[in-house]
Amino acid sequence: MKLQEYQSKRIFSQFGVPIPQGDVAATAAEARAIAERLGTKVVVKAQVLVGGRGKAGGIKLADSPADAEAVADRILGMEIKGLPVRKVLLDEAATIRDELYLGLVIDRARQRVVMMGSSEGGVDIEDVAAKTPEKIIKIAIDPFIGLRDYQARELALGMGLARELIGPFVSIAGGLYRAFLGSDASLAEINPLVVTGDGDGGYGTPPLLGVDGKMVLDDNGLFRHRTLAEMRDVDEETAEEREARQNGLSYVKLDGNIGCMVNGAGLAMATMDITKLYGGAPANFLDIGGGAQADKVAAALRIILSDPNVKAVLFNIFGGITRCDEVATGILAALEQVPTDVPMVARLVGTNEEEGQAILASAAMPTASTLAEAAQKAVAAAQGR
Ligand code: GDP
Ligand code: MN
Repeated sequence: MKLQEYQSKRIFSQFGVPIPQGDVAATAAEARAIAERLGTKVVVKAQVLVGGRGKAGGIKLADSPADAEAVADRILGMEIKGLPVRKVLLDEAATIRDELYLGLVIDRARQRVVMMGSSEGGVDIEDVAAKTPEKIIKIAIDPFIGLRDYQARELALGMGLARELIGPFVSIAGGLYRAFLGSDASLAEINPLVVTGDGDGGYGTPPLLGVDGKMVLDDNGLFRHRTLAEMRDVDEETAEEREARQNGLSYVKLDGNIGCMVNGAGLAMATMDITKLYGGAPANFLDIGGGAQADKVAAALRIILSDPNVKAVLFNIFGGITRCDEVATGILAALEQVPTDVPMVARLVGTNEEEGQAILASAAMPTASTLAEAAQKAVAAAQGR
């Protein structure tokens, strides 16, 4: 689950990372009130779950509360990369001397959380990685020992930070790591981490300030973070993804035109591979899990059919704990709720397979006895053959 910038930064702040003063607004009038309260020059920032908001015009400085109101009004009317801007963050504007990058990701190959730092902050870190990879410094963190100060210092030195910034940097690195661990995150990023001050009297302003924040949380950890789970944004997932989550289905939309409903992640992967092998392209990954009841199957089929790209549906069910008759009942229930002329083919084997096939036969649903046959039929149907 992705968090908005303001949510990520609040979490960072709870773990000791300095961030600008600020608050979120859903209307221009609220934005003005926040700017009045801050009493400084502010930056008005679109809260949308995509990067590159600055380049898209979603981040603007405002000199006065009236200006903040006007700017917020404009940004709240924008769409950025297809997402409507529903909220803006108003932060005390930072005086920026330099922009750094600091991030944490999970490196599966190393089986470690890796902290990355770069002197080239503020821009897409992917661009830095592609053009000047030597400017990204990485350290791997031992999960049992945690981030050690000497590692953070090594990172700071590698990034070429001035001596007086090393202490504050080590503290921020530690805070970010604790925020990452404490939230079961899979990504935590400050870009830019700003070197503040330009001699205009920024007394009291920390020398380093987290101006942008991004966090991705592991959905599988959310059950133990109720307050984080409640932060889920309406635009964080599509309507289909939401329905899938609420029904306990694992669903990932893809670009192809063959909807796949399968029980078990491994079987789902194999089904997608075989569909590809016969020249088709899966429209989704969908695992209904073990022991799915008819209502879950019906929800899964509704989700598949709501994708206008779907030209055929392939059911591949290996009955174990899951009973084929339950699945067949769910399929027919969904077809009553959402009548469709999308062609379908079902391969149901295992527990209660005869009962399941009899139910499908009563609805004249084409069946197949092997996965190869089912995949070929689905590919042919999707191609209108
Ligand atoms: P992103 O474009 O979605 O990554 O949003 P950011 O929050 O990173 O902002 C993009 C850029 O806007 C930053 O790299 C800064 O250059 C600039 N910016 C953001 N906040 C401030 C601010 O408070 N003051 C100034 N002067 N520039 C800012
Ligand atoms: Mn940024």
